[in-house]
Amino acid sequence: MGKNIYVPQLSKNLEELKIRIKDVINAVTSDMISNLSNSDTKQLRFFCPNNCGKSYKIKRSVGRHLKFKCGVEPTFECWICHKRFALKESMKKHVVQKHN
Ligand SMILES: [Zn+2]
Ligand SMILES: [Zn+2]
Repeated sequence: MGKNIYVPQLSKNLEELKIRIKDVINAVTSDMISNLSNSDTKQLRFFCPNNCGKSYKIKRSVGRHLKFKCGVEPTFECWICHKRFALKESMKKHVVQKHN
């Protein structure tokens, strides 16, 4: 008698448990997937170690940024107005745009 009452309850609980486990697994997996894709997009960007807020998709660009832009004294001077630029290209651009 007791068995007849308890067995269906147990199997019902098992089914519920199975469904819950499935839900948990689904939730965890989707969480993991979204976390993974998040960290993937984060990993795709390389941040300036000086915390200036600049980030680049290519690691090389961070090196370039550090070498030529971040905390670097502008070394290229416009020979006309003596304005200084961190990049030679910027200086050239300035000359072409302002002193043309
Ligand atoms: Zn920087
Ligand atoms: Zn100039």
